[in-house]
Amino acid sequence: MSTDHGTEEFRIYIVRLRDRADWVAKVNAGDEIAQLCLWAASKWRLAIATEHSPCQCCDRPLSIADKPQAFIVFVPTAPDPEKVEASAGGVCSECSEHDDRWIVDQGVHRTGMSLAGVRPGDRIN
Ligand SMILES: [Zn+2]
Repeated sequence: MSTDHGTEEFRIYIVRLRDRADWVAKVNAGDEIAQLCLWAASKWRLAIATEHSPCQCCDRPLSIADKPQAFIVFVPTAPDPEKVEASAGGVCSECSEHDDRWIVDQGVHRTGMSLAGVRPGDRIN
């Protein structure tokens, strides 16, 4: 994966647990972005079983018992869709109270990426 964030662009999606049914419906309808987002979120859930992962926005430790209420998903806008690998970060219950814009701002800031390289993804609803 390139470390040159200047040339890499991401789309960002916020996946909230309460919207899960909508996302699953999209996956069932063949929506590739929804597939990527849910795949990234499930990968995060597998990882949390073996390693600690902080909230993407405030660094509060998350765990299986203290599940994130939302995920921020980074989907690279790669020229080759076959190689796209989305990554997700957990968002704690407190941070997920904020709106999508706030979560994106906080989450991106902590990755060290510049907001210039990202554009918010389409809203799910
Ligand atoms: Zn948080």
